[in-house]
Amino acid sequence: MRVQVDPARCQGHNRCATLAPELFEVDDYGLAHALNGGVVLPGMEDKARLCVDNCPEFAISIAED
Ligand code: SF4
Repeated sequence: MRVQVDPARCQGHNRCATLAPELFEVDDYGLAHALNGGVVLPGMEDKARLCVDNCPEFAISIAED
């Protein structure tokens, strides 16, 4: 599983990085980025889905490998 952030949608609410700092960081410009190339480590899948559901801009998507 991988996560990615659409920079055109992200508004920097920071919810993703707060919910899952293992998966996301927010840069100095307020845009979120997926860490580790977006790879979701085993056991983090539910957190990744939680972030998708909690992004108010629908900016996070998941791809299954
Ligand atoms: S929750 Fe969504 S809009 Fe907010 S920083 Fe994360 S990706 Fe961007």
